[in-house]
Amino acid sequence: MTARARSSARSIAVLASATGSEWLMIAMALVLKPDILIADELTTALDVTVQAEVLSLLDELQHETGMGLLMITHDLGVVAEAADRAVVMERGLVVETGTPRELYHAPKHPYTRKLLAAAPGKGEMRGIDPAPEAILEVRGLKKNYGGFEALKEITFTLNRGETLAVLGESGSGKSTVARLLLKLEAASGGSVHWKGQDLLPMSLRQMAPFRRQMQMVFQDPTQSLNPHMTVFQIISEAWVIHPDILPKDRWTARVAELLTQVGLEPAHAARALHQFSGGQRQRIAIARALALEPDLIICDEAVSALDVSIQAQLIDLLGKLRDELGIAFIFIAHDPPVVRDFADRVLVMKRGEIVEQGPVRQIFEAPRQSYTQKLLAAGLDADPDIQSERRAALAAG
Ligand code: ADP
Ligand code: MG
Repeated sequence: MTARARSSARSIAVLASATGSEWLMIAMALVLKPDILIADELTTALDVTVQAEVLSLLDELQHETGMGLLMITHDLGVVAEAADRAVVMERGLVVETGTPRELYHAPKHPYTRKLLAAAPGKGEMRGIDPAPEAILEVRGLKKNYGGFEALKEITFTLNRGETLAVLGESGSGKSTVARLLLKLEAASGGSVHWKGQDLLPMSLRQMAPFRRQMQMVFQDPTQSLNPHMTVFQIISEAWVIHPDILPKDRWTARVAELLTQVGLEPAHAARALHQFSGGQRQRIAIARALALEPDLIICDEAVSALDVSIQAQLIDLLGKLRDELGIAFIFIAHDPPVVRDFADRVLVMKRGEIVEQGPVRQIFEAPRQSYTQKLLAAGLDADPDIQSERRAALAAG
């Protein structure tokens, strides 16, 4: 490398998407005193409160040093909050540029309009069934890891066909709740009644028929499903484990039906999981869950890693399945606008405790706890005007 190339290389620092070590990465990048900082999906994996802190740090540094910031993101909220100007890209081409306000209020290109239409947090909020029938009753559920209380005696119920969102920062215990309900891990105390039966004292064998009624969809389907298996194998494996559901001569037809139901093609059955995009894999994971005819699907950050338009399509799909099949959902998420659009009721978690729970309208329109208020305020809105109002409100204390 020539001295000149080295010095120009020094003036550009790059930050890629971070999980947990973002402060260190920012510090390391800034040691180079760059003229330009490229942040590639830097805050995508972070929860809303940490994201807000990282963005405000970058903003401060920019004002102090005058460095340019190139933010690569699929999150319109990040654009509204942090950008002076934005460039919209589709399939390797710049289709539109403008200030965030210009793009939000007067998008010219159909692709920009499509992105904006997909931004979460703009739909109608859901109501609540007036005659609830509890199918899941959780009392005093707790989990200790050594001396650390990851979950501190939480209590809640879930009604038939209801969507209960679990919202909280990362590390607040959301996934632990999911793992304990499905007995992927043993609870340290409490009870979990599923349709009146306490699951916790049961052996895995005794629990099998109940376990089948509760399915799970994870953030990354390749962690729970073998990426080299074909879609047919992945879905029909459910019936190998539970042979009473469907005779073997009906498997092919049913796989085709399920794939159609989740918006894929019957011909996709022959392909391996790794040949699909992230959004398609989630559809396959949902089809696999449906193969067991569950009454409850637990989605643990199932749409969190997807970009807005794919995320919106999946939420639509889940909503359709919910209406058609009457399935209940426990919808674990760290992104408030997505929860706002999808949930009937919301549990807000902080450090292993439920700080607040209530109908989605109450949580979003009149949150009682300051923690909930902070969490909601930290969620970024795609509307630059709303973002600047929030910033002003935060600055005013
Ligand atoms: P969330 O899903 O809300 O991000 P988790 O339920 O995964 O949070 O974790 C809750 C807390 O429990 C975190 O502090 C996490 O570090 C801790 N934890 C989770 N699993 C384990 C484990 N196997 N051993 C020790 N601590 C754990
Ligand atoms: Mg989690």
